[in-house]
Amino acid sequence: CGIIGYVGSHEAAPIIIDCLKKLEYRGYDSAGITILDEKIETHKTVGKIKELEQILPENLKGNIGIGHTRWATHGVPSTINSHPHNSGDISVVHNGIIENYLSIKEKLQQEGYNFLSDTDTEVIAHLMHSKLYGNVDSDEKICSFFDALQSTLQEVEGSYAITTVCGTEPDLMLAARKDSPLIMGLGESEYYAASDVTAFLNNTKDVVFVDDLNIVTIRPEGVEFFDIDGNVLEKEKTTIEWDI
Ligand code: GLU
Repeated sequence: CGIIGYVGSHEAAPIIIDCLKKLEYRGYDSAGITILDEKIETHKTVGKIKELEQILPENLKGNIGIGHTRWATHGVPSTINSHPHNSGDISVVHNGIIENYLSIKEKLQQEGYNFLSDTDTEVIAHLMHSKLYGNVDSDEKICSFFDALQSTLQEVEGSYAITTVCGTEPDLMLAARKDSPLIMGLGESEYYAASDVTAFLNNTKDVVFVDDLNIVTIRPEGVEFFDIDGNVLEKEKTTIEWDI
């Protein structure tokens, strides 16, 4: 239902929690967060953001993170079905529906991938892992994290707004969309990706609207936009004039 991603100079966890609270008005059944700090750390729960806050450890440190509020489409509301979904050191949050998830799931299960949830989203995590490492047991990369997302998006059908991080690329968050909203917020040495501008409007009003089949790289040094073939895109920045 709602996604958020943050890369910047502040601690990511409290910012992501704050952004998720701004998305609460849309309704949701569960919520979760992954913080990247050399490795990924994920916490998620059924219920309200307040309940998520209660289970977060105080020492959850890191300047990059992703967060989600879920409105279940595939799989009942449960902690296991909540996002983020992880595969090895890859963590993904997703709004939308992956229509061909069953055939991808069967293929990945034959390759030895163990699915924990009933969601369509979990195929994105495992498919990215299989592209990045070649197989379920390997931890040696055979392509970049960007390439892994790019070739995953070429295989999935349906709608998505995604933010994702990977433990072996500690300065990078990736975002992408198709038929589901995704907006970048460009602050002062901090960057947001969200399904709704209201998530981050208190922190920055400079935004870029991401188009379908775009991939965004978000690093502490800045944001770059690509089409699905990996070509660099020039994007116009817009300043939002209203307050929330
Ligand atoms: N289809 C996904 C799920 O059921 C995402 C739902 C959403 O957009 O919140 O987990």
